[in-house]
Amino acid sequence: MTTSDRQGWSFDSARVPASFTACEETDAPGVEHALTADRALCGIPEARLTVYRHLFTPSQKSACARCAELVAEAPSEPGVQERLHDRVRGAAAGPLREELLAALRQGADVGLWINGPTSTLLRHYAQLDRIVEGGEPIEAVVRADRRLGLARVVHGTREFVVFIPEDGRPFVTRAEPA
Ligand SMILES: [Zn+2]
Repeated sequence: MTTSDRQGWSFDSARVPASFTACEETDAPGVEHALTADRALCGIPEARLTVYRHLFTPSQKSACARCAELVAEAPSEPGVQERLHDRVRGAAAGPLREELLAALRQGADVGLWINGPTSTLLRHYAQLDRIVEGGEPIEAVVRADRRLGLARVVHGTREFVVFIPEDGRPFVTRAEPA
């Protein structure tokens, strides 16, 4: 089965549980809490927290029970297709954009979506030699050499590479199947 055959797939069905960064109370290590804007979900203010670079896992033994309870009640979040769809809507208009938007609404596979320095992403992830359509703006992105978002989407036999320049308009290209 390819992604283009997915039955009953929708942005709603693809929503994911809310995720939170893990943190610990600096003076009471050993219990992980879930971080929100300026405090842990259970109420500990940020000034008393040490923040980790991994996500809070409610099922973990070291998880704060109150935080785990509140995480379970938190509203779900859009899935990756819906989030990318929102970004691609702001892309330069054209048939590739329309085709990709339709593919994302049908649950196309987002195989990769990363952010980083343009030169690194182009060298290691963009596979520029496979891009056969829509690649004209790439030159300007190379010249600007800022940070870049790059997403690769596969839908049936079609493959798209989306460029999301940090301070420019996203654009959609098509790659030849590998
Ligand atoms: Zn907590």
